[in-house]
Amino acid sequence: MTERQPFDLDACLDGIGTRPCFICRCVANAPAFFHHRVYEDAETIIFLSKYPTLQGYCLVCPCEHREDLSHDLSKTEYLHLQELVYILSRVLKNMFNAQRIYILSLGSRQAAVLLWPRPSLRPTRGQRVKNYVEEEPR
Ligand SMILES: [Zn+2]
Repeated sequence: MTERQPFDLDACLDGIGTRPCFICRCVANAPAFFHHRVYEDAETIIFLSKYPTLQGYCLVCPCEHREDLSHDLSKTEYLHLQELVYILSRVLKNMFNAQRIYILSLGSRQAAVLLWPRPSLRPTRGQRVKNYVEEEPR
């Protein structure tokens, strides 16, 4: 599917405080939380976003539930995650001829630390701002 669909904010927020962490459920292979995996090792999982707004939109996450990138990871764990983000970013840039890669770090009690390498496909400046705003979780 390449047609853009409007983001269903109400569905996203429904039960967000009581739902299990979707990353932990994905790591545990819960069928309802299936995501296409790009890479996995003992510490990290990389998977495609289920609701991508751009091609190659991936999430890079620790396999263990972590909520705060700066407090919940050791330096070694943090650097391992960043190394994979670097490698993934180079792959995505080559695959999609992306002008640049955007990386976000998000985390909460409902979802573990996420690093989202997002390729920017040479849009205009206005499109870049629009893409970013439309993708920003609320
Ligand atoms: Zn989790």
